[in-house]
Amino acid sequence: MTLTMALIVHKYGGTSMGSTERIRNVAKRVAKWARAGHQMVVVPSAMSGETNRLLGLAKELMPDPREPQSLRELDMIASTGEQVSVGLLALALQAEGLDAVSYTGWQVPVKTDSAYTKARITSIDDARIRADLQQGRVVIVTGFQGIDTLGHITTLGRGGSDTSAVAVAAAMKADECLIYTDVDGVYTTDPRVVPEARRMSTISFEEMLEMASLGSKVLQIRSVEFAGKYRVPLRVLSSFTPWDIELAEEARSGTLITFEEDEKMEQAVVSGIAFNRDEAKVTVLGVPDKPGVAYQILGAVADANIDVDVIIQNVSHDGRTDFSFTVPRNDYARVMDLLKGQVAPAMGATAVTGDPKICKVSIVGIGMKSHAGVAAKMFRTLSEESINIQMISTSEIKTSVVIDEKYMELAVRALHRAFELEAAAA
Ligand code: ADP
Ligand code: ASP
Ligand code: MG
Repeated sequence: MTLTMALIVHKYGGTSMGSTERIRNVAKRVAKWARAGHQMVVVPSAMSGETNRLLGLAKELMPDPREPQSLRELDMIASTGEQVSVGLLALALQAEGLDAVSYTGWQVPVKTDSAYTKARITSIDDARIRADLQQGRVVIVTGFQGIDTLGHITTLGRGGSDTSAVAVAAAMKADECLIYTDVDGVYTTDPRVVPEARRMSTISFEEMLEMASLGSKVLQIRSVEFAGKYRVPLRVLSSFTPWDIELAEEARSGTLITFEEDEKMEQAVVSGIAFNRDEAKVTVLGVPDKPGVAYQILGAVADANIDVDVIIQNVSHDGRTDFSFTVPRNDYARVMDLLKGQVAPAMGATAVTGDPKICKVSIVGIGMKSHAGVAAKMFRTLSEESINIQMISTSEIKTSVVIDEKYMELAVRALHRAFELEAAAA
């Protein structure tokens, strides 16, 4: 990134915005960038715990909202967390002597589709933001929210402020989007689970996309998709460094998501390990093994608007087979109801079983494209720890296994060691 006058987007997560003291720190950091001559757009999340608190209140009144009209209200409620944040940050910046103004999603507007609680951004009108920047203002825009074509407030799914920030950066053709969070970059795996995890100074876009989609919550998957589609220079870095460290040093810190292939001469075969505890497994037993079975089961699940991830159909015995797949854990009860109530009886299946306590552990690496035996090494490592693999799924640059949730940390640590990820960077 050039350090001459640039258009920069900063995003601050919930922990970074967690108290008025921290917000003051964010303001001082942003002020440092603005005073260095940069045009600044800042996208904060709600204060940590706030979105959970708000959704908890909603849950007290309706434990399991499913209808669009109720999901609409969840977004109405959850979006307020970010509205408070932007106002507080604007005040803090004004107190620092800067001209600053805050906007909610609808004021920008950030337009989305109408999929409440998991809306997608369709367009961002940057006219208002640009006008303010030209007046020398720091512009603060809510993360996580937008507005649909009918004028209803929407939210982008948990962790969605990352996506707001990258989408704003894309719309404005910003020079860089900096994601400030409570870790100092993207690690080989979640450093809270494996203390030996190593920060990467760069990660390829493809690998970041896999890591995010396989459960590394450091970036919401859609933010990585946006960055790839619009080639937004994207960096993950810490908001907990002293705010007054030298700007040039800060601008180089953390992890840069790179778009060039073969950037590193020695590409590690496995770059990172992701895990996801947000899925549940269901199995339809004794399904007649004939054409159309997968469609009958998964079609019904898709019609209920439930995403399916890992799928296994077993070999058949006596014309019958078992069919297993994973779904988001939040949808587990609904899928079980659907399968037991309608789908299984209609197709003459013998039973439906399920397990919400599973975990998917994945190894990710571009180097897997050109190396054989990587998956085998993963399976051997897990077998040495006596961890049973329930399901497997692979693609060019990842291998995922579904295992019992209680072995998750053991599996991640063992794999991290087996693939020597704690070693110094190449
Ligand atoms: P924010 O509130 O700033 O958006 P998040 O909690 O959403 O922060 O994301 C940061 C967290 O992501 C870290 O605290 C860390 O526990 C977790 N995490 C998971 N995988 C990784 C990884 N590979 N590298 C870094 N952090 C990770
Ligand atoms: N506040 C929202 C959440 O907790 C969005 C975000 O933090 O990115 O999911
Ligand atoms: Mg986040």
